[in-house]
Amino acid sequence: MERRKQNLELNVDALFQQIIAGSKNALSQGITLVESKKAEHQAMAQALIEKCLPHTGKSLRVGITGVPGVGKSTFIEAFGLHLVSEGHKPAVLAIDPSSGKTGGSILGDKTRMEELGKNENVFIRPSPTSDSLGGVARKTRESILLCEAAGFDYILIETVGVGQSETQVKSMCDFFLLLMLAGAGDELQGIKRGIMELADALMITKADSGNENNAIRAANEYRNALHLFPANDNLWQPYVGTSSSMEKRGMDRLLLVLKEFQEKYAANWIKENRLTQNLKWFEQSLAMGWENFLHRDHIAVEIETQKKLITAGKASAYMAAKRVLEVAFKN
Ligand code: GDP
Repeated sequence: MERRKQNLELNVDALFQQIIAGSKNALSQGITLVESKKAEHQAMAQALIEKCLPHTGKSLRVGITGVPGVGKSTFIEAFGLHLVSEGHKPAVLAIDPSSGKTGGSILGDKTRMEELGKNENVFIRPSPTSDSLGGVARKTRESILLCEAAGFDYILIETVGVGQSETQVKSMCDFFLLLMLAGAGDELQGIKRGIMELADALMITKADSGNENNAIRAANEYRNALHLFPANDNLWQPYVGTSSSMEKRGMDRLLLVLKEFQEKYAANWIKENRLTQNLKWFEQSLAMGWENFLHRDHIAVEIETQKKLITAGKASAYMAAKRVLEVAFKN
């Protein structure tokens, strides 16, 4: 048993050394541990993450969302290649709200981001599959840390603009980018309420030559609409721009905006925001752990018994809770 533990520690240390040396292979293996349900793998993953922690944080974490078909993967490919051409190392992760239901994944299709995926300075990881959104979120958070330890300096976290996944992504990124289409006059209706308020930048996609006027008009409308929203807590004025992934336009401007954001906030707001996110994540993890704890058989049975006693008027709510806790913490 002791020997086995030593072996695991050796493996974790070797993996850690390779990850901080920038090995994509080792990074992949690390993320596989993070995603594994086996207790032994989880123990290794957590040990690996704790080793990596001092090497994390030196990236800009960018969340990217938009309705299916808006052009997210094409955009990430074009923007990712622009990042590489500027000497950066992007990593692409995904939060896929559909993965738990279908077993499929928004990044699962191998033909997506083909050129980007082949680049040696790029790391792309499909969304973990068959899990709850909460589970996927944990894995993505931990994967972000491993990517940073491996030296990736822009972490692009993609999600589909449906369900609860945008708020999950918002809670783990520094900068939130919303991609939108130039619609036919109903620009403000195509998007769920509240999402625009989360955005630090809004890009109108598919502004190819010939279609620019539509896109520019839409951008102006959004720019005006954004003025009606309350200011962000960091007082950042959201950027509204247009892009064509096909013609590789708008990418340079967006990178300048990200750099301006980084320059302005890296030393203060980003740091504080990450700490707030982390503490919130700690509280959520604690609540999840507590929830699991209460689902242990003997405790669940006691909870049901006490509920019946309350319903029958035979126990006070306070005493019922007290009895459950006594059962839970016996031994
Ligand atoms: P996603 O579902 O948001 O990831 O969208 P995709 O990236 O798969 O793009 C949806 C469709 O829009 C695909 O057929 C793309 O080829 C097309 N598309 C994406 N970006 C552009 C663009 O800049 N110009 C044009 N004309 N088509 C685009």
